Amino acid sequence: MTTDWQGRHVTVAGLGVSGIPAARVLSGLGARVTVVNDGDDERSRTQAAELEAAGITVRLGDGATLPEGTDLVVTTPGWKPDKPLFAAAAAAGVEVWGDVELAWRLRGEDAAPWLAVTGTNGKTTTVRMLASILEAAGLRTAAVGNIGVSLLDVVTGEQEYDVLAVELSSYQLHWAPSLRAHSAAVLNLAPDHLDWHGSMEAYAADKGRVYEGNQVACVYNVADKATEDLVRDADVEEGCRAIGFTLNAPAPSQLGVVDGILVDRAFVPDRQKQAQELAEIADVRPPAPHNIANALAAAALARAYGVPASAVREGLRAFRPDAHRMEHVADVDGVAYIDDSKATNTHAAQASLGSYESIVWIAGGLAKGATFDELVAGAAARLKGVVLIGADRALISEALARHAPQVPVVDLDRTDTGAMSEAVRQAARLAGPGDTVLMAPACASMDMFTNYNKRGDAFAAAVRELGASA
Ligand code: ADP
Repeated sequence: MTTDWQGRHVTVAGLGVSGIPAARVLSGLGARVTVVNDGDDERSRTQAAELEAAGITVRLGDGATLPEGTDLVVTTPGWKPDKPLFAAAAAAGVEVWGDVELAWRLRGEDAAPWLAVTGTNGKTTTVRMLASILEAAGLRTAAVGNIGVSLLDVVTGEQEYDVLAVELSSYQLHWAPSLRAHSAAVLNLAPDHLDWHGSMEAYAADKGRVYEGNQVACVYNVADKATEDLVRDADVEEGCRAIGFTLNAPAPSQLGVVDGILVDRAFVPDRQKQAQELAEIADVRPPAPHNIANALAAAALARAYGVPASAVREGLRAFRPDAHRMEHVADVDGVAYIDDSKATNTHAAQASLGSYESIVWIAGGLAKGATFDELVAGAAARLKGVVLIGADRALISEALARHAPQVPVVDLDRTDTGAMSEAVRQAARLAGPGDTVLMAPACASMDMFTNYNKRGDAFAAAVRELGASA
């Protein structure tokens, strides 16, 4: 452990899934902990009482003022950087760490190295593929981080690991200044969460932090130049290599695809003359182009860690996609119903709209500052109809009027949870045999649902209703 916590006064910002465990762990290490929280509702009062019973001070209803004598702030990653609390911390010369920084600082001397993945889309899929490959190589590993498994639990827990497959969000990276991964990948960069970061430049810079101090490989997407630029800007360890992945034939120091085979031309003895077969496209599920890119990125990180080619194939074959990611729910009357609720931004929706031929698209929700012209213009030829739901649906309907005026649009003026049933019924009406009804909203779900899982579940339930009445 690198820091002596005894008597340090740590302010934890936010009572939530990361704040509560952080407060408990720090208090257990001997720090004097104060939790500050904006809300003061019944739930936070119950949580506060539990923490106070453990000797932790909690201040409800004021997350803006920095408590007197604070030596360090540990923040919930989602808190926006422009909050007054952070200005106060900066003015007082107090560092701010997020949950990932805290976990990084608390790991032991010989702790497992991190193979880190970030990007606008594909993080969870890639991290799961990576963990599956590492497991196939006989390594003790886990998929952790933004994927829903707390890094703090992992680094302070009993279980020992050889290496960790770590998913990191842009928020987490923003608050993780000293993180140094063994190797890292930025899968792609497209506008998302700009309301939080303030600008595309700030968002990209936060993603780029994942490369800082990498030891073995910085993995970038050859088709997305912005990711390569981030590698160039990073300060890495001596000898660390830039490794590209591409859906085309790979140049030296790249992984790519040749005649349906995933090949490695980076981690071979002579990269000018040699290439190593890793797997076939058919080993990747689903074999859509964006997902093959995810598989190549996972393979690059695993190979950077020294995993044999055979484990890449075995790991990819063992991998099963998570729910709500281009999940085939059912066929009803010759129409396929696909739940891609996880398409919470335009870049993800673009990948899924590009994967089907004739589509009735269910879209809409919270746009998070996005624009839809490029997405709609690119998909127009594949759209047979559109059903719009959610708070920001007007942004999409305007883009449709500009770029796809011939496509029938049903604008459901509803943001209640039950709207999904009606959306599916309307979509069914617009679709015919051979078509795909694709729920890939290109927006966040929180205007109508607790999260994207619930939105996907509502879609699946509505499809089942449809099937039952068919
Ligand atoms: P994340 O963890 O980054 O949100 P997921 O693996 O959960 O990524 O996938 C999120 C969404 O993005 C899904 O809708 C999926 O279809 C789409 N997607 C997955 N990989 C990519 C990619 N490489 N490029 C574009 N979209 C992708």
